Amino acid sequence: MTSPTTRHGGRGYLAIPGPSVMPEEVLRAMHRAAPNIYEGDLIEMTRGLIPDLARVARTEHDTAIYIGNGHAAWEAALANVIAPGERVLVPATGRFGHGWGDMATGLGADVQVIDFGRQAPIDLDVVAETLAADAGHAIKAVLAVHVDTSSSVRSDIAGLRRVLDAAGHPALLMADCIASLGCDVFEMDAWGVDVMVTGSQKGLMTPPGLSFVFFNDRAAAVRARMPRVSRYWDWTPRADPEFFFQYFGGTAPTHHLFGLRAALDMVHAEGVETVWARHALLARAIWAACDAWSTEGPLRLNIADRAHRSHAVTALRIGKPHGTRLRKWVESNVGLTLGIGLGMATEDDPGQDGFFRLGHMGHVNGQMIMGLLGGIGAGLRALDIPHGPGALDAAAAVLAGAAPD
Ligand SMILES: *Cc1c(COP(=O)(O)O)cnc(C)c1O
Repeated sequence: MTSPTTRHGGRGYLAIPGPSVMPEEVLRAMHRAAPNIYEGDLIEMTRGLIPDLARVARTEHDTAIYIGNGHAAWEAALANVIAPGERVLVPATGRFGHGWGDMATGLGADVQVIDFGRQAPIDLDVVAETLAADAGHAIKAVLAVHVDTSSSVRSDIAGLRRVLDAAGHPALLMADCIASLGCDVFEMDAWGVDVMVTGSQKGLMTPPGLSFVFFNDRAAAVRARMPRVSRYWDWTPRADPEFFFQYFGGTAPTHHLFGLRAALDMVHAEGVETVWARHALLARAIWAACDAWSTEGPLRLNIADRAHRSHAVTALRIGKPHGTRLRKWVESNVGLTLGIGLGMATEDDPGQDGFFRLGHMGHVNGQMIMGLLGGIGAGLRALDIPHGPGALDAAAAVLAGAAPD
């Protein structure tokens, strides 16, 4: 007997780590005719976006908006401060760290990678040794991913600043907050981050296609000494626009901007710190459920130490081929789409069938997370994948405030 599926007849939940769920407010804001791009509402609105973005990034410094995804912001940030032949240090904790390093290689940089594997954060002591060995200060920038979305590990960005300062090393501290901004606590200025990049489609709940580079005065001084920066990536006119066009280097991404406006209104109405606390609570509920499932059978959180786990994305190991089977089952039976394994390929598991990831970033709340966990629980049962009991109760206890932190 086949049981009926509940895939249809309700709302699906796209629980992948980006693009994230878009709020109705964002969708409605974009549903409009093309606006005049030369004068009127759009121009006024865009001016207001900059300070509201900077408030999410916790910076009083400059913001440049790019039309492009996170990869564009990676390239934009590098193009402004790294000349061909200059060295960058990449302490990689997963696929995205390597990706940013690869982008730097493509721009002609000399890329020095320290590979911390796929289950651990950046080891500050190792970075300190590497900086100490660089007596001639050949390293011009440290490219650090705050939350590597492939492994779901979160690294200590403020710690990297302390390490740079302790070494008296002048390299710029550049952070990728594409997965973490608006989810995990991040303080650009207080943590001494010189350049930060992020995108629109994760914590900022807007379609992919906008990205942002925030930079401070130290980074601007490095930019000023660059022999040349390609016109399109140059952040200087974008951050100090006399004319509207200079924000974008051409036609404005009109509808994305309206969507972003609505998303920023939501973030600031809730309050950035409350948004962080909500993500922390929902992440704890997910971990509690996973801990219960893990007491029997193959499911494991990829990052063992909760202090290093992201609040926006959770990577899970379940063994080949259960990850892929589970994803397929929940998608076809309960309307839930989970993230694929990424950057976890090995010789015995080239298709990364032993992994899956949960996106819990942006427009998420307790009932969505309980639905996510309930759907996974149904999949584990349906597929006879052994698992421990009590996962949903454990998650509910966290949401009820009845579980220790
Ligand atoms: C999603 C993501 C990227 C890539 O962003 P795209 O918009 O897909 O180019 C880079 N870094 C991190 C940490 C991400 O989560």
